[in-house]
Amino acid sequence: MPDSSTHHRVLVIGGGNGGVSVAARLRRQGVGDIALIEPRVEHVYKPLFSHVAGGTARAGITVRPQRGVIPPGVEWIQDSVVRVDPEASSVELASLRRITYDHLVVCPGIQLDWDRIPGLARAIKTPAVASHYRFDLAEKASLLLRDVRRGTVVFTQPDDPASCAGAAQKPMYQACAYWRAIGVLDDIRVIMVVHGDRPFGVPAIAGELERVIAEYGIELRTNSELLEVDGAAREVVIGNSEGTERVSYDVLNAVPPQSAPDWLKGSALAADDGGFVAVDPRTLRSPRFPNVWALGDAAATTNSKCGGSLRKQTYVLAKNLAAVLRGKDPRWSYDGYAVCPFTVSRSTVVWAEFDDKGDLAPTIPFWKTMYRESRLSWIFDRHVLPWVYWNLILTGRV
Ligand SMILES: Cc1cc2nc3c(=O)[nH]c(=O)nc-3n(C[C@H](O)[C@H](O)[C@H](O)COP(=O)(O)OP(=O)(O)OC[C@H]3O[C@@H](n4cnc5c(N)ncnc54)[C@H](O)[C@@H]3O)c2cc1C
Repeated sequence: MPDSSTHHRVLVIGGGNGGVSVAARLRRQGVGDIALIEPRVEHVYKPLFSHVAGGTARAGITVRPQRGVIPPGVEWIQDSVVRVDPEASSVELASLRRITYDHLVVCPGIQLDWDRIPGLARAIKTPAVASHYRFDLAEKASLLLRDVRRGTVVFTQPDDPASCAGAAQKPMYQACAYWRAIGVLDDIRVIMVVHGDRPFGVPAIAGELERVIAEYGIELRTNSELLEVDGAAREVVIGNSEGTERVSYDVLNAVPPQSAPDWLKGSALAADDGGFVAVDPRTLRSPRFPNVWALGDAAATTNSKCGGSLRKQTYVLAKNLAAVLRGKDPRWSYDGYAVCPFTVSRSTVVWAEFDDKGDLAPTIPFWKTMYRESRLSWIFDRHVLPWVYWNLILTGRV
């Protein structure tokens, strides 16, 4: 008999949105002996970071103690995985402990690569640079954007892969709405740098965002990226292979490039393309190791990476894994659904629901224009969803 402190029937790597929800769903399926490895003592609800930066939420409401969200009956191992050996069905922890498993669920999220943009890691510590992609910097972004009265503000969105890529734009719209309300928008030059040729990959939603961008007078730099930051001189270089421009900024909100966690990139679990965990995008099971599963930002699935897709992925993965544990086939299938609620003002949202083919995928099928800017979507995104997250999603109910 394996030692229960070093062997588990199901081992989950990462106690973020995906890990906690899937562990809770598995418990509801009657699966026992689940352990979850998570180093952080605090659990965050990242979608609200955009609201924090945009000035419509306090940082404090985005965070709760991790202990309070670990599902009852699930053992929390407060540690980090540094290596995985799927041939031996084992993982190695930072504390040098080794844990073995019957089944492994991999969901450690995505890595923020601050060092990939020359100067960014240093600039982020300077007074005029922030990034709402990190909890401790979202509030900094909020204060900086709140106090601007004139000058140039630059927002940047990296190329994919990225966690909820469109979230890079959200605080910008909220800040513009605020500057317009206090009568200073005309004195502020707002530049948004995006990698694609439109602000979003789904045409109907891109059209809605372009309308808003024109209304606020935002200068959209398409097919571009942040290439360099000089925090001391307050300058950025933006552009592409065909040309670059140097822009002086008063405030910079930079979202860094992202990639699979380094320890995964070199592992046997990694997909050839980028190092995210190779899985069948429908069953979420590894094609090479039948006792390995992955979901969320760390999985090499075909969908746009976001929390909304996890609601469906956790359901599918828990059903499939529970079936396999009962000796049955995994027959549930994830459909590639994703969602990105664009806060385009301080009271409206463009509710972007789409699939992995880039088509609209509204949850309410007959409501074809659900993606249009609306107050109702704002109420849902800002007030209803956080409650749903803490009370229903993390507890495996939806
Ligand atoms: C600013 C921002 C706004 C967003 N807005 C939205 C939105 O409006 N709508 C939406 O649907 N999605 C949004 N997202 C995306 C959403 O938050 C992510 O897709 C989701 O959190 C991914 O869940 P996950 O479990 O894969 O990763 P995470 O939630 O990031 O959790 C990963 C966990 O793994 C842990 N971990 C990391 N490394 C290790 C290790 N080596 N060992 C053990 N544990 C480890 C981490 O500490 C973390 O707790 C946003 C993201 C950001 C950053």
